[in-house]
Amino acid sequence: MRRFQKIALTLAAVGGLLATSASAQWPATWTKPTQPFQVIGNIYFVGTEGLSAWLITSPKGHILIDGGMLENAPLIEANIKSLGFKLSDVDLLLNSHAHFDHAGGLAQLKKDTGAILIASVGDKWALENGKYPGFETNAALNFPPVKVDQTVPDGGTVGIGGNILTANITPGHTKGCTSWTTTVKDGGKAYKVIFFCSATVAANRLAPEPQYPGIVADYQKTFARLPKMKADVFLAPHPEQMGIAAKKAAIGPGKPNPFVDPGELGRNAAALEADFNTQLAKQQAAK
Ligand SMILES: [Zn+2]
Repeated sequence: MRRFQKIALTLAAVGGLLATSASAQWPATWTKPTQPFQVIGNIYFVGTEGLSAWLITSPKGHILIDGGMLENAPLIEANIKSLGFKLSDVDLLLNSHAHFDHAGGLAQLKKDTGAILIASVGDKWALENGKYPGFETNAALNFPPVKVDQTVPDGGTVGIGGNILTANITPGHTKGCTSWTTTVKDGGKAYKVIFFCSATVAANRLAPEPQYPGIVADYQKTFARLPKMKADVFLAPHPEQMGIAAKKAAIGPGKPNPFVDPGELGRNAAALEADFNTQLAKQQAAK
């Protein structure tokens, strides 16, 4: 597989919606087109108004993180092309987590780019079956299954052309929820970047019948870990979770990059942990 050979893969740690009409129940912003833009260095936002997708470019090939909903694949592709990049140069697909709103477009994107997909062990089943574990019979949460070409363990790294990303498994929201981290150069400086997976409870059952066995311990592990992680740039799977509109408006020549905020990961982690504890108490009280 020629393309596969282009990927400098290192595993250092040894390691849809069934019909478009069904999307009516989700926020309209999720499938609403928006202009792509350069976030910092060689990282570009190529998602929709309500769902993030990230392109990390290099002359040797590009990395695309997340595919949004099924309907978002053509929108992401149009964004990549409008930035002047070629779809055929996207060689590696990654995913934050295997839910229909972040993985729904991956099968189409994989087909159209010819890229390989590398994902966590914990999310492999969900990606390859196109289902939300614990809600397997809820067809509205299904998405087109996509083959995982290679799995990556916690701490494993993947990369192309000098862009190296580390998989940090931050489980709970999904079993294999992956927060990818990398370093980006911008204006002669290096910045640590996190493509945060998510740690919201959302529709997940915590108690009495958990979404998956061990989910509560997984969230707790993630909340213990996040404060120890450092990131200068916090990039979230839902644009509003990172106040993207205000930041985008604040981008300008000679101005400091509004996406650089070393406190943002910590603030988000604290708020998410507080919300998790509230939801857990509520679900336990209801049983
Ligand atoms: Zn999710």
